[in-house]
Amino acid sequence: MDHISDILEGSRTGKSTEIRGWVYRSRASANVAFIVLRDSTGIVQCVASRENFPESRFKEISGLTLESSIVLKGTVVEDKRAPTGYEVKVGDFTIIQRNDNYPITKDLGEEFLLDIRHLWVRSREFTSMMKIRSTIFDATGEYFMDRGFYEVHTPFMVSTATEGGSALFKVPFFGEEVSLTQSAQFYLETLIFSLENVFTISPSFRAEKSRTWRHLTEYWHAEAESAWVDNEGMMQIEEKLIEHVVKRVIEDRSDDLSIMKRDVGRLEKIRAPFDRIRYSGIVKEPEKYGLNIKYGDDLGMEEEREITKRFQKPIFVTHYPAALKTFYHRPDPENEDEILCHDMLAPEGYGEIIGGGERIWEMDVLVKRLKEYGLDEKDYYWYLDLRRYGSVPHSGFGLGMDRLVTWICGLQSIRDAIPYPRTIRRFKP
Ligand code: ATP
Ligand code: MG
Repeated sequence: MDHISDILEGSRTGKSTEIRGWVYRSRASANVAFIVLRDSTGIVQCVASRENFPESRFKEISGLTLESSIVLKGTVVEDKRAPTGYEVKVGDFTIIQRNDNYPITKDLGEEFLLDIRHLWVRSREFTSMMKIRSTIFDATGEYFMDRGFYEVHTPFMVSTATEGGSALFKVPFFGEEVSLTQSAQFYLETLIFSLENVFTISPSFRAEKSRTWRHLTEYWHAEAESAWVDNEGMMQIEEKLIEHVVKRVIEDRSDDLSIMKRDVGRLEKIRAPFDRIRYSGIVKEPEKYGLNIKYGDDLGMEEEREITKRFQKPIFVTHYPAALKTFYHRPDPENEDEILCHDMLAPEGYGEIIGGGERIWEMDVLVKRLKEYGLDEKDYYWYLDLRRYGSVPHSGFGLGMDRLVTWICGLQSIRDAIPYPRTIRRFKP
């Protein structure tokens, strides 16, 4: 059995082949039936001539409907007119299952396509997206492993909120209540004391009430934490990660990028280092970034879009005012009102894909911060223990993998970057 890619690579030309897959397109005249067959590796045109089959058999293959499954035997020829440059002259075939009324035709509404997502995932663009996504996940893990990070696994059912309590999903737990994790960060912090450099790629859950193009309620989160690394050191790890991932996608998935009509020239520019811009620098000259904001205002989706439209590479925005972020960020010793943190914003208007920075590692500073945020030390006893026993300076980050896919593929919405998006109104199929 061959794959269609074997044919497209030219290794079967002039030879016989056996392939199997699904009908991507079909049309027939009285004397020939054309079937564009697809499998996981590509599409190829297959032609059955009437003269080679008894009448009833020719009828079967010339009336084949979209997405019917079939096994074909035939001979491969090169043909410039065929959609992918090769053609299979069909000698024999077995129909595995013949469809009636495949529900996806052209020009269907977005909500309908989400309802039949389990079928839409077969579409050519979606298949390419999933291949690129697979490479992005692989390249991310590869980057960490090559640099001595250990992959670890942390609980999804948790008792402590990392990003604030309002966006928590609650789950019953044998008469008690737990929440679904928003971030693995605190657990990763515990693990650096044995492993020093750790990462995990796993789902995070946030009960985001707004339905935006970049928020899911369940998303894939690549998180890393390193002992002895400061804010600047962490940014260097991140920019090289993004450079590596984008390079791998260009190397391994150029066909899929072109199926998705992604401008590869833009991706080729993604080389470390990325610019670092202080939050205070942005609010000092907001008009330079198309903004009308003042010190203390947060940078939301719209602001990030304006800023990053002006850049060809990702940028880091650093040193936010403490009030704009959660309690665990380490204040800058040179200016206690600002914290040693950063967001990485993807270019072309995409905005935040990473949030990271130095964590407070001094006990007294953390206790003070918990108080300021109205949090109960008791709930954080184990997090505080890390500052009690052999505490060390350390940093980490969280990368939204679905946002990374959205940007690399050049998609309009994060919903197109994951097979089964979970949003405020959707948990089916
Ligand atoms: P935003 O301000 O866009 O809501 P955030 O600042 O709340 O994001 P972090 O808590 O810093 O996000 O999470 C780390 C990363 O996880 C983000 O940089 C982003 O890439 C990703 N992320 C956060 N929330 C979501 C979400 N609801 N859906 C998809 N990805 C998300
Ligand atoms: Mg953030």
